[in-house]
Amino acid sequence: MKTVVSEAQLSAEISLAKAAGKKVAFVPTMGALHQGHLSLIELAKKHADFVVVSIFVNPLQFGPSEDFDKYPRTLETDSAQLAEARVDLLFAPTVDVIYPDASEAAANLPATTKSAGPIGEILEGAVRPGHFDGMLTVVSRLFDLVQPDVAVFGAKDAQQLHLINAMATRDYPNLEIIEAPTIREVGGLALSSRNRYLDEAAHEVAQQLSAALRAGAAAVHRGGHTNPNLVIETATNALATPEAKLEYIALVDKDTFEPLENGFSGRALLLIAARVGETRLIDNTEITF
Ligand code: AMP
Repeated sequence: MKTVVSEAQLSAEISLAKAAGKKVAFVPTMGALHQGHLSLIELAKKHADFVVVSIFVNPLQFGPSEDFDKYPRTLETDSAQLAEARVDLLFAPTVDVIYPDASEAAANLPATTKSAGPIGEILEGAVRPGHFDGMLTVVSRLFDLVQPDVAVFGAKDAQQLHLINAMATRDYPNLEIIEAPTIREVGGLALSSRNRYLDEAAHEVAQQLSAALRAGAAAVHRGGHTNPNLVIETATNALATPEAKLEYIALVDKDTFEPLENGFSGRALLLIAARVGETRLIDNTEITF
């Protein structure tokens, strides 16, 4: 595996791969890699001949009171994992490579260049104002740099995936976005780089997020007819633990992210966000009505 940090090095490697007729797959990450990330890489390999992974903790998508400074940075072990996974190219840029117009001070980051629109302001976007504009800005910058044929994103970050799909349809019509299923611990907890913040007790509590989703999903056909409210109510009741501070449980149409109405049929997402201690966790499950 080669590692590059600059735009010029990256372009040179991508040009070589493309000149050799290779299809390029891209997996953007913020590092602190786990099996979820590695599953995206495996999926990428099935769709392409040359897999590029980026590791970049994007300051533009963190709010002022969020964990940007303490977000885990483990480049050495990440790099070893990627080499073992036979990734072709690791792109590990610094902030000035991604945002050449930004000054050294993180406070002087550039403005976002992408807007997530109304869907960027609900659910995660309501709790984290500006997060999705910052996320789309870095993803589009990375797409422009890497010029991939396919890019893989996790279903775990469902609202992110929805917004990336919308951006790709609009701005990157030749790019195929692939959705990768959520990888979980045996107990159900979705793997996340932030799980390493959890101590043993918090880890136990965190398992209850996925348990709540399962309880909600199991209530879909209760009573012989579909009832979105019953799903939400069941999931909410299942998370009846004071240690998990629920931020939202919502049921949306997977295609539009609009709330479900009674009588809906099709693919929906049951989404949950909660705080366990200082750690914010999100998860979701797909439900067919
Ligand atoms: P992150 O490093 O958290 O920005 O995540 C990088 C990519 O990995 C995103 O596309 C995430 O949706 C995906 N991802 C994170 N956790 C998981 C998981 N448990 N299973 C599958 N994909 C994941």
